[in-house]
Amino acid sequence: MTGPDVAVVVVGAGAAGLGAAHALRADGMEPLVLEAAELPGGVIRSERVGDYLVERGPNTVLVKAPALALLRRLGLEGELAAASPQGGLRFLIREGRLEPLPTGLVTAVRTPLLSARGKLRMLREPFVARGDGSGESVDEFCTRRLGREASDALVGPFLTGIYAGDERELGAEAVFPSLVGFERQRGSIVRGALASRRGGDQPKGLRGSYSGVSGLGCIAEGLGRGLGEALECDARVNGLARDGDTWRVSVEGASGQREIRAGAVVLALPAQPAAQLLRPLDPELADDVGGIAYAPIVSISLGIDPKDAREAIRGFGFLVPRRENLKVLGCLFLSQLFPGRAPAGRELLTSMLGGVRWREAVDQPDDILLEALHRDLERTLGLRGAGETLAITRWPHAVPQPGRDHVGRIARVRKRAAQLGGLALAGAWLDGVGVPDALASGLPAAAALK
Ligand SMILES: Cc1cc2nc3c(=O)[nH]c(=O)nc-3n(C[C@H](O)[C@H](O)[C@H](O)COP(=O)(O)OP(=O)(O)OC[C@H]3O[C@@H](n4cnc5c(N)ncnc54)[C@H](O)[C@@H]3O)c2cc1C
Repeated sequence: MTGPDVAVVVVGAGAAGLGAAHALRADGMEPLVLEAAELPGGVIRSERVGDYLVERGPNTVLVKAPALALLRRLGLEGELAAASPQGGLRFLIREGRLEPLPTGLVTAVRTPLLSARGKLRMLREPFVARGDGSGESVDEFCTRRLGREASDALVGPFLTGIYAGDERELGAEAVFPSLVGFERQRGSIVRGALASRRGGDQPKGLRGSYSGVSGLGCIAEGLGRGLGEALECDARVNGLARDGDTWRVSVEGASGQREIRAGAVVLALPAQPAAQLLRPLDPELADDVGGIAYAPIVSISLGIDPKDAREAIRGFGFLVPRRENLKVLGCLFLSQLFPGRAPAGRELLTSMLGGVRWREAVDQPDDILLEALHRDLERTLGLRGAGETLAITRWPHAVPQPGRDHVGRIARVRKRAAQLGGLALAGAWLDGVGVPDALASGLPAAAALK
């Protein structure tokens, strides 16, 4: 028996794998990171198209405490670009038109997004009887606490923006863990939120939304660079086997197939490829992991002349409630959020289509997608003409959809994975689907291998 070649192999260099690898290094371990693609970052993909800077995957991120600490340690904080303050102005579509979301008490009282009855029902939240949230969908939880109108008009579109999902299927405990916790501890979301504000001296991230100075790709590249030779791209792991105390990791790369012996493994992959590697080791574990559904997304970036639009292009962008029956889920005004991303006199709009509302979108040809997008932008923004099509990107497995049973499923998955010995899991399908959640999922994975 020979010893391992490396202490830890991290499989995948998306946000989760990069987070895990840096956490392992901070703990004094030397991981080898194997990434199938040419570049680190996973779904984070920024690209210059003519004079535009386009994101094909995620567009804006929150910078939470773990990511901020890591960026500071690597000297990458200066690569962050804060969204312009006008990003505070966000719209919902109501009867085909842009309606600003309330930003304070006065606008909340005046907004037509909720009727007076709907607003009063929301205000009654602290007096609603305590429930539990276990096994409830987000829609059930929010309707019980805030009323049907608020759930339909506000929560549904908000979840479309993050999950491209359906609030009737997403699980409340997984999607809103702190709100469910507030109800359990204080009997009310409002009372819980107020108490947590008073008690809050936890490490803080940055306020607001962020990107990188040349798109999110430059942050991912910086995190990859920080790993030096420990990051190997064009290296696809296609087999995992236990051999006594070590792992045999089969890798297909530019120089052909090889095997690496590792003391431990972090699988930082989306659920389906992770399940594929886990199947020969533990089929039940693989079924649990592979059973996590994903929503597909098509992202389309257009360059437009703002004079061609009836509506002013200002603020963050808009989200579309389901009852509007549009194909577009939402649209970001990226050149407003991050000036300099479009040439002078033009605007960069990035729209998302598909999600669980239109699963077949990823299989449609470009002309069908563009026709649907132009029709919806004409209706909502009054946009005439096609503009310039800058990028169309299809993501068949874009965002994990944590269901009602998600929290129990993940507890089971973590327990069974730990029983394999020297194996940890990271990824956006575990505890949160955003880039910062994926990155933070690498920290407990690294800690479990200490
Ligand atoms: C269109 C879109 C828009 C989004 N918008 C936002 C947003 O605005 N803000 C936000 O916070 N989040 C957003 N998200 C969600 C967020 O970007 C992702 O959930 C998160 O980045 C996923 O990170 P990950 O590391 O878990 O997975 P991934 O990014 O998928 O990384 C997994 C990596 O593993 C590699 N890999 C796969 N198989 C193998 C193998 N066998 N061997 C080696 N390597 C392998 C892949 O090449 C990839 O690099 C968006 C997602 C999409 C798709």
